[in-house]
Amino acid sequence: MKIKSIFPLFFLTAGIFLSGCSKSPAKEPTAYDNSDIAMGTVVSQRIYSRGADKTGEILDLLTQTEHRYLSWRQEDSDIGKINQQAGKEPADVDAQTMAYLKESLTLAEKSGGAFDPTMGKLTRLWNVEAENPRVPSKEEIQPLLDESGYGKIHLKDEDGQCQAALEKGCSIDLGAVGKGIGCDEAAALLEKDENAQGAVVAVGGSVLTWGAKPDGTDWKVAIRDPRGEAEDLLGVLSLTDENYVSTSGDYEKYFVQDGKRYHHILDPATGRPADAGLISVTVLGENGLISDGLSTACFVLGFEKGAELLEKYDAQGIFVDEEKKFYVSDGLTDLFDLEASGYIVFPFPS
Ligand code: ADP
Ligand code: MG
Repeated sequence: MKIKSIFPLFFLTAGIFLSGCSKSPAKEPTAYDNSDIAMGTVVSQRIYSRGADKTGEILDLLTQTEHRYLSWRQEDSDIGKINQQAGKEPADVDAQTMAYLKESLTLAEKSGGAFDPTMGKLTRLWNVEAENPRVPSKEEIQPLLDESGYGKIHLKDEDGQCQAALEKGCSIDLGAVGKGIGCDEAAALLEKDENAQGAVVAVGGSVLTWGAKPDGTDWKVAIRDPRGEAEDLLGVLSLTDENYVSTSGDYEKYFVQDGKRYHHILDPATGRPADAGLISVTVLGENGLISDGLSTACFVLGFEKGAELLEKYDAQGIFVDEEKKFYVSDGLTDLFDLEASGYIVFPFPS
């Protein structure tokens, strides 16, 4: 099935059906649409509200969150400061950054290190989005692997004073949870807006659904066919109220050398692109950070260990493997409609 979206870029990783006109009769909520760039990705929004258009505020909030707290590119962001001071004194950070780091480290532990927020230097070494990417040598990978590891992050949170220290050579990169954090921030802003009735916000491959649509129908979140064209769908999730949906896959950021695909999700055990047999992982978890982090972690872990990790978080998932088998967890079987052909559906292990 092909969808002609008014926001074609929606379907980069996951997408949403948008239909209908953008203005409603008086007193009915107005539908505000916006598609723009923030956090280095396409942010597509629809907000139903009886008040003013808040899509611009959400976009600004995402940009601020990236610049103040998350960006490793920005020397004066909290993560930038921590990285610059690696091997030296601890950096003072905002309570918000501390909360993101704590949740990230918990995920790193629970995933046995499959999710590791210190993969930045290796990501930059592989640089799969470069014009002429290449496979780095073992000699290039090993020193960076030795310097990485989430155990090299040390957090201190005493009497409201938050500090983070990093061992020498190590570097933090929250790229695997940034878009999910964006969804959390968007939800917090909507929660404070008494006029907002419902919204769907897609930050790249992480999607927030919030509240209700005025016509009472479900939110539709489309998942891209990992081996199809950009607008081909694997299927559609029908959701109500607040949900956080994140998808990680090997089909967007990759290069091919000697017939082999090298993508951007690295196995922290090897420093090489994860190779556990999965090509797309979609997760619904309790918040955006967790859904985004879990989709990356499960991609690294593969089907069985990934399913075990989802259980620890009471999260739901859809995993697709390279043989075009796909697995839907119990909580999603009634909510997911398969659209693509050639896939075989399997249950999750019980
Ligand atoms: P995307 O950025 O495409 O949404 P992910 O959420 O899966 O994809 O995150 C991938 C990004 O996270 C990479 O670009 C890299 O910066 C970082 N990363 C790569 N491998 C890991 C890993 N095993 N654990 C944590 N972060 C990772
Ligand atoms: Mg992720």
